[in-house]
Amino acid sequence: MAELFSSQIIKSSKEGPNGLIIAGIHGDEYEPVLAVMRLIKKLEGRLISGSITLVPVTNRNAYFSGSRVGEDGLDLARTCPGNSNGSITERVAAKISELIKKADFFIDMHTGGNLFEISPLSGYMLHNDPSVLQKQREMAAAFNLPIVWGTSPELEGRTLSVARDGNIPAIYTENGGGAYRTEGVEELVDGCENVLELFGLLPQQKKKKKAMVNIEDDKPGSGHLQVMHPSPDEGVFIAKVGLGDFVKEGDGLGYIVNDKGEKSTQVLAQQSGMVFLKRAVPMAKAGDALAGILPIKK
Ligand SMILES: [Zn+2]
Repeated sequence: MAELFSSQIIKSSKEGPNGLIIAGIHGDEYEPVLAVMRLIKKLEGRLISGSITLVPVTNRNAYFSGSRVGEDGLDLARTCPGNSNGSITERVAAKISELIKKADFFIDMHTGGNLFEISPLSGYMLHNDPSVLQKQREMAAAFNLPIVWGTSPELEGRTLSVARDGNIPAIYTENGGGAYRTEGVEELVDGCENVLELFGLLPQQKKKKKAMVNIEDDKPGSGHLQVMHPSPDEGVFIAKVGLGDFVKEGDGLGYIVNDKGEKSTQVLAQQSGMVFLKRAVPMAKAGDALAGILPIKK
């Protein structure tokens, strides 16, 4: 049987934390994959303590078909900790979950894929253990993307759910989606190196910190992107807003034109804040997420 995915371990000669950085949990998210491939080349011989395990394409079955999920239709980010005797996605989930449980810290990088564009952010699950939570806050801040978002600890099936259960400090990142962005790769490589500096795997460098917004939201389901501002109808989404726009609660975000050419009522902003998630593919089914807003003030 072919390998489910390949990983590369880079070690220093000195004891230290063992980190895990992965990409390609969803098969249509490319900048993180290229960032991990670049880290494999860039980090060789540079670690001053510990080790790092790098997995560029976790979900190969989905990646080589250019789709979010594999041939069994299961979302790998809803299937952890998986089943080593199950379908392809369940087996990959079991294998990656084993790697996560062995790690001392963990980074999982995503984009909005084919369907969404997302503003650059680092996120973590709010954690009952204050020391894990604190480390996650530090990792997310170190990654140096403009938004840091702590969300509901109750989401299941994620890689981060496995890390949460193992008390392993973990963050995920979202950045881009839709069209491929070369600069997105650089941002992710830099961000990972910053976290490796935080854990002492790389020497500390003086880097400029970006202006950052910190949000923590423990509402059940916060952080679940696929349910935000659901489409009222099936048809083409005509957006009135773009990523980074500030809206007030009740503002129109756009509307749907159905197959009879009829406009739906406006989809209204459920809260005031910044548009950080936007559907990149105009065609939507009733209930599909169209946009997301974070409660950020201008
Ligand atoms: Zn993803």
